[in-house]
Amino acid sequence: MISLENVTVTYGDTVAVDNVSLTVQTGEILALLGPSGCGKSSLLRGIAGLEPASGIIEVDGRSLAGVPVHRRNVGMVFQDAQLFTHRTVVGNIAYGLKGQSKTKIRARVDELLELVGLVGMGERPVTTLSGGQAQRVALARSLAPRPSVLLLDEPLSALDRVLRERLSNDLRSILTAAGATAIYVTHDHDEAFTVADRVGIMSEGKLEQVDTPAELLAHPTPEVTGFLGSNQVIEARVIESSDFETVVSLPQKLAIPGAIQSDSVRLRIKALGQN
Ligand code: ADP
Ligand code: MG
Repeated sequence: MISLENVTVTYGDTVAVDNVSLTVQTGEILALLGPSGCGKSSLLRGIAGLEPASGIIEVDGRSLAGVPVHRRNVGMVFQDAQLFTHRTVVGNIAYGLKGQSKTKIRARVDELLELVGLVGMGERPVTTLSGGQAQRVALARSLAPRPSVLLLDEPLSALDRVLRERLSNDLRSILTAAGATAIYVTHDHDEAFTVADRVGIMSEGKLEQVDTPAELLAHPTPEVTGFLGSNQVIEARVIESSDFETVVSLPQKLAIPGAIQSDSVRLRIKALGQN
């Protein structure tokens, strides 16, 4: 379990993280969702000890004040896998297991290869991996020493959308199977709602609302409504379709949740696939 109380991270006059309080239970995956620049990375860096943070950060009831980065037992996964390019897949995964017996290390590495779906690829140089495979290795490497908390900073955002959708499902299964307590930072709504048990919405350094995906959609605060928009699913009829465009007909009247004191409203339309 990790709990934050009034955590603030500043750079000179810039308040990047503004009095954030939250608790992530053991085995829970919390996503922090917010636009670029809202302070997500700064908060993770504060937790990891890479940036000075004021306030209280406790892991399993123990304060991290004064505990150096390498003693925090916090794992990190970044947007670019940051693998050791001169090591194999196994060499990367085993990195944090130094000091244990060879048999133990091998058993743990095998377990992780299985968990992240890379069985049989252990001896591959990491330079031959695809972007998605590299992120699986990065994830396995950070899970190997069984960190108390795993921090993931936009781990899928360098990948294309199709791969991102598939991997976000896999990521949830992997993190759940590993029993990881995780904070998962992303600016992508779909990813946050797929991966996390609860989602925290961040805006300008502040944590606006933390709730389950279902609750957030059902009862968003006004600020969160503005950010998330309405996620209503609308059925539309296809009128004509060519190779590059499809014309659809929307129902003439649409009910959208929430009060709007205006004569006009902007809607965002995104196709969710075919019926
Ligand atoms: P996010 O990860 O949500 O995109 P960041 O935590 O990177 O947001 O940034 C939050 C704010 O802090 C931004 O205004 C950004 O410009 C500023 N910031 C981030 N890192 C630094 C830094 N090393 N020095 C000064 N300002 C920074
Ligand atoms: Mg960031």
